[in-house]
Amino acid sequence: MKYYITTPIYYVNDVPHIGHAYTTIAADALARWNKMHKKDVFFLTGTDEHGAKIMQAAQKKGQSPKEFCDSVSAQFRDAWSSLDIEYDGFIRTTDPLHEAAVRQLLTKLNEAGDIYKKKYEGMYCVQCEKFLMPGDLNEDLCCPDHKQKPVTHSEENYFFRLSKYQDKLLELLSDPAKAGGIGIYPDGRRNEILGKLKLGLEDISISRAKLEWGIPLPFDNTQTVYVWVDALINYISALGYTAGDKKFKTYWPADLHLVGKDILWFHSVIWPAMLLSCGIELPRRIFAHGFFTIDKQKMSKTIGNVISPAQLIERFGVDASRYLALALFPFGADGDISWDALTERYNIDLANNIGNLLSRTITMVGKYFTFEVPRVEAGKNPYAPKVQAAIDVLRETNELFTACEFSRILEKIQEAVDIANELVETTAPWKMAKEKNPDLEKVLFSLLQILGLITVYLYPFMPKTAQKIWQAIGQKDKLAGVDPSGLKDVSMLTFPSAKEKLGPSQILFPRI
Ligand SMILES: [Zn+2]
Repeated sequence: MKYYITTPIYYVNDVPHIGHAYTTIAADALARWNKMHKKDVFFLTGTDEHGAKIMQAAQKKGQSPKEFCDSVSAQFRDAWSSLDIEYDGFIRTTDPLHEAAVRQLLTKLNEAGDIYKKKYEGMYCVQCEKFLMPGDLNEDLCCPDHKQKPVTHSEENYFFRLSKYQDKLLELLSDPAKAGGIGIYPDGRRNEILGKLKLGLEDISISRAKLEWGIPLPFDNTQTVYVWVDALINYISALGYTAGDKKFKTYWPADLHLVGKDILWFHSVIWPAMLLSCGIELPRRIFAHGFFTIDKQKMSKTIGNVISPAQLIERFGVDASRYLALALFPFGADGDISWDALTERYNIDLANNIGNLLSRTITMVGKYFTFEVPRVEAGKNPYAPKVQAAIDVLRETNELFTACEFSRILEKIQEAVDIANELVETTAPWKMAKEKNPDLEKVLFSLLQILGLITVYLYPFMPKTAQKIWQAIGQKDKLAGVDPSGLKDVSMLTFPSAKEKLGPSQILFPRI
């Protein structure tokens, strides 16, 4: 089975920050989780590089637009490699492959009779690079995102007959189970989109006159393709749509487009309408995540509260940054983050809970059994119900992965850690050792088992750390190759023979 997952392509007028990292880490965790399930995964990310804003930004830096895009796009790739993001494709809208796909798709739209020319006058936000409807403006009659008055602007542009697809879209978006239906999540967002769709659709402009940094329309090279339309096509251009590439046949349609809530309309209405017009299959699911504020304020360069991936990694390390990005609040909701909240969560979940469980377990195996892994025959462990309880909790996460409920998955992992820590508290191994209680090795063996199971679920979020824990408790195989889909018991774990010893205890998460 294949699994095609995408992040949005990120606009290069901004350098990578925690907002971009948020979506990308989530996509990486899902990609890794599906790879563990032996699916043929293609995980796409990339950069969006055309438009007037990019031209201005390049001019300010004394660079050509291409030089400017090359340098910012490279910063995104560097950020993702520093966060251990394992993407399978990185698309740039300035790639010749992408530009060819845009021309081909626009030609198809035109041939389908869905493109026409019209003079248009409206209120245009230069920062957004789009016309705004009266209903889009805030109380000061400004663009709500840029707090700037839009300018009156008139142009003769090409339009796409979006209105033609209203009924079809309503049908396909209302019922994800229908053939060709699209699932939009969370449910609240789907209802918003459906509500807006029911009000009616207006045709949209898909070109700009005389914009130099863009892709010329295939049927009129005095106009360039509107950046939003250009950007959406990346999801198929990256698969070699134009080249008749095998990748397109293998991976399209997308199984999941992960997007921010601000661009859900483009993805759930405009993109599917374009695909319908061209006779291309529609994506299966679109999930819109929420936004976060930092210390209750919108993240902005002016306020100076932007958090970069490098800053996160410097404070917490790579894997803890990945964990914390998804731990603080539900993926589909809005939330607030702060350095204090991140640090507190780091200390509670990682230093005190998971890290401490590993180090105390290994220390006890060292102290009481000279690091030799205890052996307990199957069916003869009185603590097996505790291990089973951990399995049951972890198995509940399977559905949560499908629903993108990352913060709840991490809570479940913590619950499993709590079960192990309770086992330590209630059995008091230090007393058992004094009393030479023969059940001591069974307690320690159970703790190693629970740690092993937790590690399997931790892997998509903390790949390197999970592999370290896996090795520390004596597991031999590569953790990435373990398939969690059949988890019913502890059979996925293989402990070394009693002669082999575990290494010394290590501190994975020093307290901050
Ligand atoms: Zn704006």
